[in-house]
Amino acid sequence: MNVVRHRDTMFGFPEPRFMPCAACGASVARDATEFHACDDERRLDYLVLQHRAEVAAFDVQLSRYLDSPQGRFAAWDAERAR
Ligand SMILES: [Zn+2]
Repeated sequence: MNVVRHRDTMFGFPEPRFMPCAACGASVARDATEFHACDDERRLDYLVLQHRAEVAAFDVQLSRYLDSPQGRFAAWDAERAR
């Protein structure tokens, strides 16, 4: 017999059996969250995905900096100091 309890529904819709892990985005069964351990690589990918706009902006900012007089000097100085 399949009984839908009150806590399993919200606004008349059944809650999903799986929820994304807040730290890594993995789909985890609601009744198994205490057994879930995040995979480090997956967590890193998830973080990068969440911050993809900032990561893309960083590349643009770095390119602009390296094209500026200060950036060209810093690159030259870093090369010289190796
Ligand atoms: Zn996780």
